[in-house]
Amino acid sequence: PLVLGIETSCDETGIGIVRGRTLLANTVSSSMDDHVRFGGVVPEVASRAHLEELVPAIQLACATAEVELADVDAIAVTSGPGLAGALMVGVAGAKALASALGKPLYAVNHLAAHVAVDIVERGELETPTIALLVSGGHTEILLVRDIVDDVTLLGETIDDAAGEAFDKVARLLGLPYPGGPKISKAALDGDRTAIRFPRGLSTAKDRTPERGHRYNFSFSGLKTAVARWVETAHRQGHEIKIPDLAASFEEAVVDVLTAKAVLACQDTGVNRLLLGGGVAANSRLRELLAERTAAAGITLRVPPISLCTDNGAMVAALGAEVLRRGHPPTVNTFGADSSLTVDKVFV
Ligand code: ATP
Ligand code: MG
Ligand code: FE
Repeated sequence: PLVLGIETSCDETGIGIVRGRTLLANTVSSSMDDHVRFGGVVPEVASRAHLEELVPAIQLACATAEVELADVDAIAVTSGPGLAGALMVGVAGAKALASALGKPLYAVNHLAAHVAVDIVERGELETPTIALLVSGGHTEILLVRDIVDDVTLLGETIDDAAGEAFDKVARLLGLPYPGGPKISKAALDGDRTAIRFPRGLSTAKDRTPERGHRYNFSFSGLKTAVARWVETAHRQGHEIKIPDLAASFEEAVVDVLTAKAVLACQDTGVNRLLLGGGVAANSRLRELLAERTAAAGITLRVPPISLCTDNGAMVAALGAEVLRRGHPPTVNTFGADSSLTVDKVFV
């Protein structure tokens, strides 16, 4: 079946078209340039941009895929989590399109879609698998027994998400929003052993399951440590080497992420790991995860960078999986759910 996916949960208006598990088009238009001067995504601005971009993006995707809208068998849309107003534009557009075409509509979860996206690259997800989901708003470890019907949360951040930590530290260093890619670039020329920053929730006592945070993460202490380090350097008149600072910070984040993901695989006896989310575009994360999984005998799946950050392909990919399992379409009365949890894969 031909599935058209619509993604509008943040600043990207993404349209993806898949036929079965083959990706035919992935059109992404971002309003990021309009948010840069505010130092973060402004919900109202993002919603307006989606409204302007949605129809042209659908047209472009159809042209790229060389399909007519009338050929589409089903529409999939992100119904959460994300910015409420931004989600609503996609949801309203998807409802209108589905009813105009007389085609079924499937509302899907943005986070599960970040995990499902690799299906269009390397085919079916072998399960069970552990998934490390690292994005701008979320940092989670999941046990995936089935990407549609059985996703369990094993751990999550208790404060900042990994991407949020990158963005906040970038701001501290005077790098423009979104800071993740800029830190990552600066870090390429840096020494990651230059400064030893704290690794949150990685001491032995944090690994006690009874305390409820065996696979949880914490990045706000790290952010504070970087801020203190910068303050001290300023006060003492030391030169701040941005590449060293960026590399050392990045290493602290990536060290905990990879260590906990491997630990989750070992504890559950699952020897497969899947990486997903915008921070999965980070090259050091990809590198260290590859090293540590190889050493532990874990098979690693990492989507191509272009499919890690928000896009419509991930929504179409997950929608196609919901369809494949024969689930009924979403009832048309659903709405956007800005705090939808990952275990609720489709609505
Ligand atoms: P969520 O998926 O939780 O709703 P989101 O959709 O806003 O959040 P994504 O688009 O999945 O987030 O990811 C964006 C985040 O990824 C931003 O915080 C950005 O800084 C970070 N990011 C992107 N590229 C890199 C990189 N190379 N290194 C580190 N972080 C990165
Ligand atoms: Mg974005
Ligand atoms: Fe995302």
